[in-house]
Amino acid sequence: MSLLPSCREVSRLLSEALDSGRPLGLHVRIHLGVCEVCRRVLAQFALIRHGAARAPEGGPDLSPEAKARLRRSLDGR
Ligand SMILES: [Zn+2]
Repeated sequence: MSLLPSCREVSRLLSEALDSGRPLGLHVRIHLGVCEVCRRVLAQFALIRHGAARAPEGGPDLSPEAKARLRRSLDGR
C-alpha cells in the first residue's frame, strides 16, 4: 500500500478534476511535485481542454496560411 497515488491514478484524478473544475487533491499535488511525467500529462490535459473549450466558438483567429505554418513548425519538432 502506497501513500501516494500511482501515475495511472494521478492521470485519472487529473482528468476528473479538470472535468469537474474542482481543485486537485493534496496527494495529487504532492505527486506532481515529484513526478515530471505527470506534470507533462497535466500540461497536455490543460492544452487539450483549452483547445476543446475554444473550438466551438468559431476557432482561433488564424488565417489558413498561419495554421499551415503553425502545423509545419509543430511537425518539425
Ligand atoms: Zn506520476
